[in-house]
Amino acid sequence: MTDIEKKIGTASLKTIAVVVALYFCGLFGAGFATRIDSPLVSRNQIEEILNEEKRKLGIKEDIKVNIVMGDYIPHTKKTNEKEYEIYLPKGSTRFCNFTHELYHVKDWDEHGDHETGYYLFWGEPMATIYSLKNRKMGRAEIK
Ligand SMILES: [Zn+2]
Repeated sequence: MTDIEKKIGTASLKTIAVVVALYFCGLFGAGFATRIDSPLVSRNQIEEILNEEKRKLGIKEDIKVNIVMGDYIPHTKKTNEKEYEIYLPKGSTRFCNFTHELYHVKDWDEHGDHETGYYLFWGEPMATIYSLKNRKMGRAEIK
């Protein structure tokens, strides 16, 4: 028995493990559900709606967001003090992937660099909830 097991008990540890596993299943499931009716968007479409979506989220105007498309899993990088890059998969990018990553820009700008715990248990679920609510484009789909 390890020290931590002695302190909080094996049964409690199992409960915590089950709760954490359910949490990540829920997070993954919500991320997957978000994609179901979210339209595919092109780089041009994203560029056209980028400023409008930034405004909706309340991202400051002086924050620059660059869209990079290629063989990427969606993610966001801070490249400068007021500059971010959103990496999206080319060809099969869903609108929800874009709104999810844009939420990370807002969160990052407002809360600065944060720890993995913040990201896993606050930043990521909040981005997932935002993209779930904003998985469809705000106006008629651009063809
Ligand atoms: Zn995320």
